[in-house]
Amino acid sequence: MQSMPVRTSSSRAALLPKGLSGLLMLLALVLASLFWVSNSVLTERYTLQLAERAFVRSALQAGRIAEALRGATVTVSLMGRDATLVAALSGDSSQLAALPEHLVALQRETRLHALQVLDGEGVQRAAAPPATPPLAPDLAAATRRASTFTAPKDGPGGGTGALLFGQTIAGTTAAGLELDLGTLIVTVDISDLLSAWSQQGDQMLITSPGGRVELASRPLWQGAEIDTLIPAQTDGPVPWQQVIDGVEYLALSRPIGFRDWRMTYLAATGDLEDRVNSVLALEVTFFATLAALIFFVTARRAARESTRMRSESSNLRELNARLTREIEERSRVERSLQEAERSLEQSSKLAALGQMSAAVAHELNQPLAAMKTYIAGAQLLLRRNRTEEAVTSFQRVDDLITRMNALTQQLKSFSRKGGQDLVQVDLRQVVTEALAIMAPQVGQQGVTITKLMPSDPIFVLGDPLRLEQIFINLLRNALDALRGHEAPVITIELFRGEALARVQVRDNGPGIEGDQLQLFEPFYTTKSAGDGVGLGLAISAQIARDLDGTLRGRNATEGGAVFELELPLSGGTT
Ligand code: ADP
Repeated sequence: MQSMPVRTSSSRAALLPKGLSGLLMLLALVLASLFWVSNSVLTERYTLQLAERAFVRSALQAGRIAEALRGATVTVSLMGRDATLVAALSGDSSQLAALPEHLVALQRETRLHALQVLDGEGVQRAAAPPATPPLAPDLAAATRRASTFTAPKDGPGGGTGALLFGQTIAGTTAAGLELDLGTLIVTVDISDLLSAWSQQGDQMLITSPGGRVELASRPLWQGAEIDTLIPAQTDGPVPWQQVIDGVEYLALSRPIGFRDWRMTYLAATGDLEDRVNSVLALEVTFFATLAALIFFVTARRAARESTRMRSESSNLRELNARLTREIEERSRVERSLQEAERSLEQSSKLAALGQMSAAVAHELNQPLAAMKTYIAGAQLLLRRNRTEEAVTSFQRVDDLITRMNALTQQLKSFSRKGGQDLVQVDLRQVVTEALAIMAPQVGQQGVTITKLMPSDPIFVLGDPLRLEQIFINLLRNALDALRGHEAPVITIELFRGEALARVQVRDNGPGIEGDQLQLFEPFYTTKSAGDGVGLGLAISAQIARDLDGTLRGRNATEGGAVFELELPLSGGTT
């Protein structure tokens, strides 16, 4: 009974970690795939966002740069026809003297970085700002010849984000022929535009069709060959991953709309990784918190469960111990009960035996005493020759012997209980008989007997001798109580109720002392050892009970004891 729940709990305890470890493994797998999926999804999504941004920014930048370069081209070609310039280079000495001032004014107006005027020999004649150093002869020659531009390494732009535009200054002869008077070199600085996004990590390169890097947001790249920087570039609007100097970029190439030049826009992706990682970190934090919560709840539940099981099993143990104790106690009690029963049987038999022998002795004593009186009387009568009277006395003795015989018979029947058949008896007759038997003692003590009886018989079912015995006992007790009384009176009264017959035996003695119920217990007596054994009332009450009646005793309000016998009335009048 006790081992069952223990076995269950142990098997459950073994099951729990096994299930838990499986669950944990599954959870780890799910989390790993979740992280993997969200990583790739986020990377893709952010890459797309980055590409979009790069696309927009590069378009914006390309437009601005192309605009600046085209503007500069127009300005430069217009300035090539400037009248003052042409005049100064045509040999007008006054104009030549005014040239530097004119150049400064032009530079201020056009907001160009620098202006330089070379004569037909390639010698710098004026510059604005005036401190602008002359170009290296080969560069000057190249510029003049190409009438275009080239990135200066050590020129007026300081080597960063500046372009040189060369423009031939042409004059016309009187005959209308065109003359090459010199060259105007303009420096355009767009370093501001180039570095516009570089603070956010983005870079850009502008290459001429030959692949030379003409402009770059990083001065280092300027003048380099693009193939050395970006070996595998693709054309078209599809961005590609590119690592330059250990930095990862998303690269995008597009034409800028100026002389077939292209821009390569490099968008920094470091930002992208950070963003993906921060989202992943958020996910990790969330799941870690969730796991901690689940673990906490599970641990608490497990703790509660184990506490409950422990208390349950200890309860069971306790119950078991209690049951064992109770079973032991029970069998012990049973054993002692059996012993008690056995000894009780023995002792009750002995008690019954004692009670019976005492009763026999008691009941025989009365007639024996009467016989002694009668025989003494008869002796006296014989001595005086009054034979007739003596015979009557002997007759009395004979009657008493008959009665004693009947009594022993009755005692036998008492021990057999209900052995004799009950007959209808007139209670008046029974009382008269009893009084006749007690007459000698009554006379001796000078007691007045008052008898109150109805004229009709009062029939009950019973054994006449045993009923007589009741009244003899009651009378004898009353006589005992009246001993030494000055005017002793015993009143016997018979009543007929609806279903019961009642007989009252009253005396004017001292009354019952002590408990009135105890009187009927066998061997209860207040009399001295020779006078009473305490059986009279016990036997009388037993006889009444056997006939479905009652015998009660009490003290009368006017003094003395009252004993009352009640018996069921018998219907017939036989
Ligand atoms: P016994 O007469 O041998 O004592 P009983 O059973 O007849 O035994 O009576 C028991 C006791 O009841 C008596 O000892 C006595 O104390 C009390 N008793 C009985 N009848 C009377 C009575 N009429 N008046 C006073 N006491 C009585």
